[in-house]
Amino acid sequence: MTSKSFKKAVIAASATAVLSLPLFMGSLHTTTALAAGAKVAPAKVPANVATPAKQMTTPKNVVLFIGDGMGEASRNAIRYATVGKNGTLEMDNMPITGLVRTSSSDHLVTDSAAAATAIATGVKSYNGAIGVDPNKKPVTTIMELAKKAGMSTGVVTTSQVTDATGAAFGAHVENRSAQSDIAKQYIENSKIDVLLGGGEDFWYPKGTAGAHPDTPAEDPTEASKGTQGNLVDRAKQLGYNYVTNGTELKAAKNGKLLGLFANEEMFQAHNEVGNQYNPIVSLPDMTTKALDVLSQNKKGFFLLVEEEGTDEMAHDNNAELTIKAGQQLDKAVKVAKDYAKKHPDTLVLVTADHETGGMVIEGPDDEDESGDGMSKEDGPFTVAGSEEQFYIDWTTEGHSAVDVALTAMGPGSQQFAGNYQNTAIHDKLVKLLKLK
Ligand SMILES: [Zn+2]
Repeated sequence: MTSKSFKKAVIAASATAVLSLPLFMGSLHTTTALAAGAKVAPAKVPANVATPAKQMTTPKNVVLFIGDGMGEASRNAIRYATVGKNGTLEMDNMPITGLVRTSSSDHLVTDSAAAATAIATGVKSYNGAIGVDPNKKPVTTIMELAKKAGMSTGVVTTSQVTDATGAAFGAHVENRSAQSDIAKQYIENSKIDVLLGGGEDFWYPKGTAGAHPDTPAEDPTEASKGTQGNLVDRAKQLGYNYVTNGTELKAAKNGKLLGLFANEEMFQAHNEVGNQYNPIVSLPDMTTKALDVLSQNKKGFFLLVEEEGTDEMAHDNNAELTIKAGQQLDKAVKVAKDYAKKHPDTLVLVTADHETGGMVIEGPDDEDESGDGMSKEDGPFTVAGSEEQFYIDWTTEGHSAVDVALTAMGPGSQQFAGNYQNTAIHDKLVKLLKLK
């Protein structure tokens, strides 16, 4: 806008203001007159206008998927590689889409702990915070509220089950690294019914290997390092069934369930021996079992399912394994959607805590624009069902500050359309589940 047209615009705006003033006063006057009247007919909503109250149905169950680090480019890359340009992933074949803002209380670029704390508690906190506010005071989580209301709760992840994303739903610690404290709080305080993932090393003290041997060939640095005694024994005392592999998981009876399937993450990343993504129990299989167990509760359940490979492989700028992990997440989403089709009182949400890697999808060209010291482009990858190819380039080995997508289906899913802060996910769920 030139300065002349700016002046004109200002004049026009003030003219409008002057003109509208009497109108505004007039409407005020009318309102006052109405309020003073003895009998006023209640306002009627025309029949053809849907009331928000009617739209907001109450879900009985919630399954919240978090693809850690899974930004839009990541979702797109998973789509191109899996179902092609015109195909639709399970996670995208849902009626509602929203965009979630991800910054933490102290950084534009969040970490997983602050992001999960925002989603779980409705409070923005500092990077590293688990279920505590910026003053390090514990804040009640949505899973704790759900539990109080009689619902069952579960955390399923390919990461350590005590890693940041799940932790923020069932623990309160000042720093995400206190994973043995998180484990103890899970079983003693928030009493999460189903816990499936990796991270056995934090449940046993040093020297007690457990089912997964210390210093294994795939990563010799892995060894038990628990700081809270033998928490597997403690869990058993508290009534948890304990399983350590897929066969045991399948056979596990209903009731409280703890499954630890790896020393650390259920895959290998940032690893001298080489990255691998081959969890001994798949995310879809863990999701299936969690739904079996949790659905026994007539009062409903709240299940968090996290895929961690989409974050850690992106930190390593490894597009192939980022996509492979994302494909597993999509299969797990299908498991929940199939459950929701049979149990339509189930709300399913798929989102991310933040984006990782500053991922970009490019067409083939001869040039790798990555500068000196940057990781190389990955590819070529084939667009499924075609001859076309694409490459993936990275701009960081950390997280970025872009919004992440959220897709939703089921009762109350309409509430998740739009662009909102990550804290709003908590607020919307509390309202929908009538937890406060
Ligand atoms: Zn990360």
